[in-house]
Amino acid sequence: MSNQKPPVQKNETYRACVADLTHDGAGVVKIEGFPVFVKRALPGETVDVKVIKVKKQYGFGKLLKVHEASPERAEPPCPIYDRCGGCSLQHLSYAGQLHEKQKQVESVMARIGGFDHLQVHPVNGMTDPWRYRNKSQVPIGEERGKIVAGFYAERSHTIVDMDACLIQHEDQDRVVNVVKELARQHGIRGYDDHKHKGTLRHVVIRRAKTTGDLMVVLVTKDQSLPHKEHLIQAITEAVPNVTSIMQNINPKRTNVIFGDQTVCLWGEETIKDRIKGIEFVISARSFYQVNPDQTEVLYQQALDYADLSGSETVIDAYCGIGTISLFLAQKARHVYGVESVAAAIDDARRNAKANHIDNATFAVGEAESLMPWWHSQGLDPDVIVVDPPRKGCETEMLDAMAAMKPNRIVYVSCNPATLARDMKHLAEQGYHAKEVQPVDMFPQTTHVEAVTVMYREG
Ligand code: SAH
Repeated sequence: MSNQKPPVQKNETYRACVADLTHDGAGVVKIEGFPVFVKRALPGETVDVKVIKVKKQYGFGKLLKVHEASPERAEPPCPIYDRCGGCSLQHLSYAGQLHEKQKQVESVMARIGGFDHLQVHPVNGMTDPWRYRNKSQVPIGEERGKIVAGFYAERSHTIVDMDACLIQHEDQDRVVNVVKELARQHGIRGYDDHKHKGTLRHVVIRRAKTTGDLMVVLVTKDQSLPHKEHLIQAITEAVPNVTSIMQNINPKRTNVIFGDQTVCLWGEETIKDRIKGIEFVISARSFYQVNPDQTEVLYQQALDYADLSGSETVIDAYCGIGTISLFLAQKARHVYGVESVAAAIDDARRNAKANHIDNATFAVGEAESLMPWWHSQGLDPDVIVVDPPRKGCETEMLDAMAAMKPNRIVYVSCNPATLARDMKHLAEQGYHAKEVQPVDMFPQTTHVEAVTVMYREG
């Protein structure tokens, strides 16, 4: 097909059936076999599409009309859904979302992993898939001189101003609105990322579900934060559950949210939450799962797959503040956690102490460097648990895991594509998986979490 002229033309309209959904939630229509990606179109639908861009192998189209709607089509409840780049599946029923996510995991397992006989279980979803996020990271900017706060439009740096975000907790909306209101009143400037000017870049909020406590982090371009006292007063009055207000200073011209310096403006430097009875302190910069209800489901699955009897030596790599490690420690002889962010390891050690867990040891470092060293020192794990970021594990990490010859490797992943790639690498080194359990940590978005266990053959 690559040498042929594409069978579609820009600006022409076509009627076609939607065959599939891409990993980022666009419908795929085939026009004479030529794939065209159409935002908001759903599998099974017949749609009218205007082609807006044609490449050699594929094109992009705009949805003009849904001719025959999918029974799974839903009315998006969010008033800014069409403009905001935060969610991309509100137009699909929740059951439909779970079904598509299962298919997505199945597809990468076959395509990238080469696993045709692996069982991908139905996605473990939520009963109420709204208002679940315990963390908001909201960009602040200005539009025609007026301060705005909201998420970016898709593939852009234009902020879509919002009053509420239906996937985050109401208290988090309240904080964003108070900060916006106060900045407007006192003329505190929002950040302009083109000119690299202004004061407030982001407001980041974390909420501990079990206590209701909130941490607010105001990310500023410079050290100075005008009307600091007014901000503190307004936030704490409007949302009494706020127990911590921090300032993070990020002077760089960058998309990265946080800078290196964090100071406490008011209250505590951490917030406390509990997962399944274990208490965790969380600092501004540490990783913490964003969906508290589903975190329990996810961790339980990882624990079940680890299948501990009490005598095992376990490694928990990419351990963050030691959440999974401390659960494992209750059922293992000893757990070794490794994590690259030093502040998270400080939290992990504090968390172990506060929960009187003394069979967990934590180390700061890159997993791919520390694991070979642990191996050379004779550390001999029975079970390894990994929970890497989206890019998955480095090859050195996978090789080090296999060289340690644990009986089981439990892999928790927020990106099924890198999970499939890494499982393939481990399969080549003698590890075998029978099943994958996806867990929906991110309803209304296309993201999906998945857990598996691989056993050593022979
Ligand atoms: N298991 C934890 C954290 C998972 S997120 C939890 O459930 O809360 C992934 C973690 O990996 C983050 O804390 C991140 O800081 C850490 N990380 C990223 N790259 C790493 C590397 N190369 N080595 C060790 N840790 C890393």
